[in-house]
Amino acid sequence: MVSGIVSGRLALVTGAGSGIGRAACQVLSREGATVIAADKDYEAALETIKKHSALASGSNAVGDHSAVELDVSSSKSISELLSKLQRQYKAPPTIIINSAGITRDNWMLKLSEDDFDSVQDVNLKGTFLIMQTFAKALTEASLPGSIVNISSIVAKYGNVGQTNYTASKAGVIGMTKSAAKELGKFNIRVNAILPGFIDTPMVGTIPGKVKENFLKMIPLGRLGDPIEIAEVITFLSSDKSSFVTGATVDVTGGF
Ligand code: NAP
Repeated sequence: MVSGIVSGRLALVTGAGSGIGRAACQVLSREGATVIAADKDYEAALETIKKHSALASGSNAVGDHSAVELDVSSSKSISELLSKLQRQYKAPPTIIINSAGITRDNWMLKLSEDDFDSVQDVNLKGTFLIMQTFAKALTEASLPGSIVNISSIVAKYGNVGQTNYTASKAGVIGMTKSAAKELGKFNIRVNAILPGFIDTPMVGTIPGKVKENFLKMIPLGRLGDPIEIAEVITFLSSDKSSFVTGATVDVTGGF
């Protein structure tokens, strides 16, 4: 077993096929966790596990790590995942990282109802359903846990073209604080990270000119690397942060 700050723990990461979720799998496994990489895109989740495991093989379980297909906006998909994990690992994950997220940007005056709803379904309802299902499993198993939700810095300040996205991410902050209040008595901690602009495929959709303007507002003068978010995720997942709950942590290069 790899020794590290989350050694021996089982970690579920959603949105694990790309960007921040993929980096979280990398750092959590480096620090000793067994990782379940979950994504809508199964092949991408499998690639994450293979990429970051010295034990890569052709199956969907690499070492003790595994890749699974998951749609966080579907309660059926989530409950099927829980049953599968209970069979495979005999216990629920005690680290839960909600990184699955989408953008459907448009000016508010042009934004369609569908693009509003789909962003809430994945970013807000998806985070809720994962928290509810896995926190319930933890309380039933009398296990402590740590949940880390990925919000966004734009939830605090707003952003043009993102009324749907900022609403979903502000919702994640409120929900994180409420869940932390409810789950503290079960020794389940719930925190949120507010990333700034991080170099992932999601940011690739931002027009060049807009990106240049954002760069001028980042004191560290660059985009963040997904690993820099993953390090904070791993700290919040570990007992190093044992008295931190209901917190929001900005990781923005000073933006
Ligand atoms: P990313 O590279 O696009 O990764 C997001 C992953 O989530 C993708 O693999 C995506 O699959 C998956 N996903 C989408 N819908 C899903 C669903 N219904 N169920 C399961 N998985 C789903 O984005 P990222 O930049 O890593 O973002 C990760 C999180 O950080 C998101 O919540 C995002 O809002 C947040 N965030 C990112 C930034 C940034 O600058 N990058 C800043 C602040 C906050 P598909 O590719 O197939 O859609």
